[in-house]
Amino acid sequence: MESISVFDMFKVGVGPSSSHTMGPWRAAERFLRELPATGVQSVQAHLYGSLAKTGIGHGTDLAVLMGLQGEDPETCVVEGLLDRFESLKSANTLRLGTGETVPFDYTRDVVFHFDECLLGHPNGVRFLAMLDSGERVLRSYYSVGGGFVVEEGEGAADRQLVQLPYPIDEAAQLSAYCERDGIDLAEVVFRNELTWRSSTEIRQGLARIWTVMRDCIWRGCRTEGILPGGLGVVRRAAKMATSTLGEVPNEPDEFFKVVDAHKPDFRNTVSWVSCFALAVNEENAAFGRVVTAPTNGAAGVIPAVLMYALSFLDQPHSLPEDLGEVTSAEGLSMMEKFLLVSGEIGSLFKKGATISAAMGGCQAEIGVSSAMAAAALCYVMGGDTARSLMAAEIAMEHHLGMTCDPIGGLVQAPCIERNTMGAMKAITAAQIALASNPEDAKVSLDDVIRTMWQTALDMNHRYKETSEGGLAVNVSVAVAEC
Ligand code: SF4
Repeated sequence: MESISVFDMFKVGVGPSSSHTMGPWRAAERFLRELPATGVQSVQAHLYGSLAKTGIGHGTDLAVLMGLQGEDPETCVVEGLLDRFESLKSANTLRLGTGETVPFDYTRDVVFHFDECLLGHPNGVRFLAMLDSGERVLRSYYSVGGGFVVEEGEGAADRQLVQLPYPIDEAAQLSAYCERDGIDLAEVVFRNELTWRSSTEIRQGLARIWTVMRDCIWRGCRTEGILPGGLGVVRRAAKMATSTLGEVPNEPDEFFKVVDAHKPDFRNTVSWVSCFALAVNEENAAFGRVVTAPTNGAAGVIPAVLMYALSFLDQPHSLPEDLGEVTSAEGLSMMEKFLLVSGEIGSLFKKGATISAAMGGCQAEIGVSSAMAAAALCYVMGGDTARSLMAAEIAMEHHLGMTCDPIGGLVQAPCIERNTMGAMKAITAAQIALASNPEDAKVSLDDVIRTMWQTALDMNHRYKETSEGGLAVNVSVAVAEC
């Protein structure tokens, strides 16, 4: 199995989709590296399968053009991104990231193959460049979910195969390591991460992820209006936040302090968790900066549940002041441990099933994010390894079979609200697991991962991010307006 770092699961990027925006964007960057610095006559991007069917709503065309221009989704300026894309569509040239400008006609050179799939995965993109020398450069890539990209013909040997102290393919191995070495979940993940980077780098990386997540919540709680794409979806997070706070402060730190000071009752807690999840996914739908967790469509669940833990379980909210070296996970803050544990649970699903909606429907996105959040929440609330894994199992068990049917091919309805449901299910699953004896459980996490994969294989393609079934075909407004 591939060795997957927590930092592979949590990637900073641009909305609205990890598989349809982030992945194709990264694929275009990879293709760019195959091109000579000069002597390129033309470039074309061909989108196949789900990337064609929901590519316009998911910004796949925008992503490939940005990638070919050499922009990085992690650092590019997101403000005005849609305007820049509109300008590119009407321009007759494209300035490649190599520095060379080539003739480019959007309607001719971005080709949507609606009825064709490449063999390796439903999310296929193929780039073709013609060179002055008469040669052609042709490469095919698969966007396999969560922003991960595989080139056609690339085998396991080409991928990241490092020797970890705790190689993990299944949840049972994770528990066995904890029991054998007398350590907990965060410690196993932390020791594995040390294979790739120092403890200081791990802490700085986790702080960066949480900062992007927090800023995304804050921006979402301050931004009103209608989301792009033509469906007319009204943003709601800002209204929910102001109805409780009166006014959302201008600075993120101030905002989080005010939220921390609230000690909401059950009803208000539900409102806040929902508000956090809505905020992130409204930002995601508006092509804002988000973190894949494990995907963009499901990017709101983990920040919402982590915010719940930090704001309402009396944990310090700000980033740890000292991000210096630590020798074990015991020296980490709650936020850091939460991200480590949730990332590991996500990688179990990626290895044993899928985190791609084009392969497994929405159970692979919201279901996985909910399981990740449930395990991490249970862990930071004092749950042992067995209970934390049980929490992940419970959360996924009640997402099995969930289809992906985005209206108009946009990551908006049902996606945005669905993040609130994933977050609430995660909190419920953590509470149930904490109150349970894991020895009484009838279903293990590995059982549910296997079941999710079998369900994915049985699921009709109409419910796998094609917008050919479910709500996508039953909501007439979408057909009329998108
Ligand atoms: S329905 Fe679920 S899987 Fe499909 S695009 Fe929306 S969030 Fe992603």
